[in-house]
Amino acid sequence: MGRREAILAEMGLAPIWRLRRKVEVEANAATPSTDLADSWIELKQLVSGCVKCGLHKTRTQTVFGVGDPRAEWMLIGEAPGAEEDRLGDPFVGQAGRLLDNMLAAIGLERRKNVYIANVLKCRPPGNRNPEPEEVAKCSPHLLRQIELVNPKLILAMGRFAAQTLLETDASIASLRGRLHRYAGRPCIVTYHPAYLLRNLPDKAKAWADLVFARKTMASL
Ligand code: URA
Repeated sequence: MGRREAILAEMGLAPIWRLRRKVEVEANAATPSTDLADSWIELKQLVSGCVKCGLHKTRTQTVFGVGDPRAEWMLIGEAPGAEEDRLGDPFVGQAGRLLDNMLAAIGLERRKNVYIANVLKCRPPGNRNPEPEEVAKCSPHLLRQIELVNPKLILAMGRFAAQTLLETDASIASLRGRLHRYAGRPCIVTYHPAYLLRNLPDKAKAWADLVFARKTMASL
């Protein structure tokens, strides 16, 4: 089995799904310009010292984000889990491994032309769902991050990312499969990788969302 087949098999998609066309991965220079760096550093400092909600009391560290600060793709998850809290990077646990495989299946890598962040920068204890007040206090950090990265397309993974960006309480099932906009940019909704680990049949739907995102990006 080739690497692509292995990835698709890992996602539960082989042998039905095949990529029709190789995606060119643009390895952007990751060096931010001075003005971006200034704001980026400021934002990082603001996040690392943030005490706006109670989660600062239980965090090991804040989890700012990872990737190319000039990326065309921006992926938004929910909140750090135990591994992310320990290591300081988003999606480094089991869900992160699935996310990396999903990215590879459409020819992307987490540090090349991709930026990954969460709605919450601190881990909710016991991996509970974020509270509305925590989202309200923390999401301005994410919105500023989006402004600074200025991605061409956003992939909102899971309920909290989608509902926060699109200011709705609609379900993922009703939001996916359509092109939304966040601040003028295309925003595509898909399932959270942790949900997919528990609901294997929905991996095929997530694959359809990724193909939709890839097509949308190619048309921009
Ligand atoms: N789930 C998320 O939403 N984000 C992470 O960083 C890890 C797991």
